[in-house]
Amino acid sequence: MTLDASCIFCKIVRGEIPSFKVYEDDKTLAFMDINPGNPGHCLAIPKFHSENIFTAPDEWVAATMATTRRIARAVQMTLMPYGMNIVQANGPGAKQSVMHLHVHVLPRGRDDGLLLNWGLKPGNMDEIKALAERIRANLPRN
Ligand code: 5GP
Ligand code: ZN
Repeated sequence: MTLDASCIFCKIVRGEIPSFKVYEDDKTLAFMDINPGNPGHCLAIPKFHSENIFTAPDEWVAATMATTRRIARAVQMTLMPYGMNIVQANGPGAKQSVMHLHVHVLPRGRDDGLLLNWGLKPGNMDEIKALAERIRANLPRN
């Protein structure tokens, strides 16, 4: 596992800053986004610091995508959203704001008006925590 001392997502992996975890295994972590585009917005990350899809080794991308699908299915079961976008940004030009590879699981509401770059608006932490618990309860067990 290679982590970066100053990266905010590496700090979350190390438990140095808190997060509402949804799923964790040896290679990946999934947690709630604190600026949710919509309720249930989660992020999946590798426990390996690389900036983006271009630089991350295949094994870490593969593990992150497996976790993405796992939590996407749990979010789907929990919220039955109108739709769901799986989004991943590379570089400031794509509005990537945290330079540690991550995949957004973003539930959609009917006519919710979300654009590709939906902006960062702080969510209600109690609501986010409660949703994390509901999503965790719908993860497949194995
Ligand atoms: P990006 O803009 O790079 O595609 O996505 C980064 C995401 O990380 C944003 O949606 C932002 O809300 C989220 N984020 C930034 N800092 C934190 C944090 O400290 N905790 C959590 N849970 N999410 C964060
Ligand atoms: Zn990092």
